[in-house]
Amino acid sequence: MLKVVNPATEELITELETDDSRSIIEKYNRAMSAQLEWMERPLDDRARIMTNFKDALTAEADTLARTQSEETGKPISQARSEILATTARVQFFIDHFRDVLADDVAVEPAAAEDGRTGEHITYEPLGVVANISAWNYPYFVGSNVFVPAILTGNAVLYKPSEFACLTGMSIAEVMYQSDLPDEIFIPIIGGAFAGQEMLKWPVGGVFFTGSYRTGRAIADIVSRRFTRLQLELGGKDPAYICDDVDPATTAAAVADGAFYNTGQSCCAVERVYVHEKIYDQFVEAFVETVRGFQVGDPLDENTYIGPLSRKEQLMVLKQQVEDARTKGGKILIGGNTMNRRGYYFEPTVVTDVSHDMKIMSEESFGPVIGIQRVSDDREAIRMMNDTPYGLTAGVFTKDPDRAHGILTKINSGTVYWNCCDRVSPRLPWSGRGDSGIGVTLGEEGIRSFVRPKAWHWRLPG
Ligand code: NAD
Repeated sequence: MLKVVNPATEELITELETDDSRSIIEKYNRAMSAQLEWMERPLDDRARIMTNFKDALTAEADTLARTQSEETGKPISQARSEILATTARVQFFIDHFRDVLADDVAVEPAAAEDGRTGEHITYEPLGVVANISAWNYPYFVGSNVFVPAILTGNAVLYKPSEFACLTGMSIAEVMYQSDLPDEIFIPIIGGAFAGQEMLKWPVGGVFFTGSYRTGRAIADIVSRRFTRLQLELGGKDPAYICDDVDPATTAAAVADGAFYNTGQSCCAVERVYVHEKIYDQFVEAFVETVRGFQVGDPLDENTYIGPLSRKEQLMVLKQQVEDARTKGGKILIGGNTMNRRGYYFEPTVVTDVSHDMKIMSEESFGPVIGIQRVSDDREAIRMMNDTPYGLTAGVFTKDPDRAHGILTKINSGTVYWNCCDRVSPRLPWSGRGDSGIGVTLGEEGIRSFVRPKAWHWRLPG
């Protein structure tokens, strides 16, 4: 049984039966036998079902947000925003999946030398895909995979994180109410064991969102087969503040990028570099912003920072802060677990940091941030690229050429100019280095769920 615990109260919400080897193979077989029929479904019918799904998310946003907030500790206003913003992603996929599935003609017989030869490409689904997901944005990271997968004719075995199972089960309910056949989207409940079991079966693709460590373990298993593998992993995303910006407004924007969702975003700002000319004003304004964040009950509409979703992360943050302190870091605010029920960590700002500190080199995934002084753009670029990760990076400057010059030298899948911590359905989402492989979102992200078939043919003479 899986215990679902409310991270804000530490109370047991419920216990769920987990999947075992037998139930997982049964689910795999059910999905396999339904998928061939699903790929024959007219595209308009698939679009109709996903439109129903989108509309139901809007209609049920309040209830779904409450479930998510209770099991993950996400502040309820942020949970609701995530659910409502997911509908824009779903709409993007509905608007674009037909283009991805459209045949490409390479040679028309009329244009061929012999007037009879043709060549074209069709795009077919991968089959049954395994989607092993994270808890921090279950709607965003889940829908990036299962919506385009379903639209392009795949069946999905969906394993929500063990820290977001009630949300995963709610998503399945909404799918079924939307007229999706049960076998095309099947939740699998459990933790690492359930994920490992899913990988035993010859799925057509493995789509994983989670930590580098688990991604590495999955890659080791999957690489022995020739299966499509997508890994959306962690990051240590930098933001660089140039000397030509207003320190106060920039500090407020960057603090939001670092602390939104209690710092538990894959693209949260995790390191800040500030030009020495405005360093002091920026730090002062940043700390003031953080001091103003309302920490508390995630079900309170005004709460901005809730508990961490996972208790173990408290220790990781504690160690990062302690490591910084012993190496000369200055803790300007926070630095400790909070003296209250729930997995709360004080919003924490550390300065006088360097790259030999964990806080500047390892993913924090919580409400702590290190701010480092730099003397020029060259130093900033060097610092920003000094990481095995490559998910996102941001630059704040009034000068577009300066921003362009810096960001083209940064090794990450996404870059931001005067903004941060953003994802758009229209743009490809990908990580470099230890941040993963493969693409979701954008048209390229829909293409991740199909494979080409090359057709050579000849008209009868
Ligand atoms: P996690 O790696 O602990 O777990 C992710 C999923 O993998 C869960 O469903 C878990 O049950 C499963 N799992 C665990 N061990 C497994 C194994 N050996 N085999 C198969 N499955 C296994 O990660 P998490 O704590 O859920 O998520 C946080 C991490 O996710 C952070 O590092 C964050 O940056 C990253 N993330 C990345 C993106 C992105 O788009 N790049 C988005 C969200 C989160």
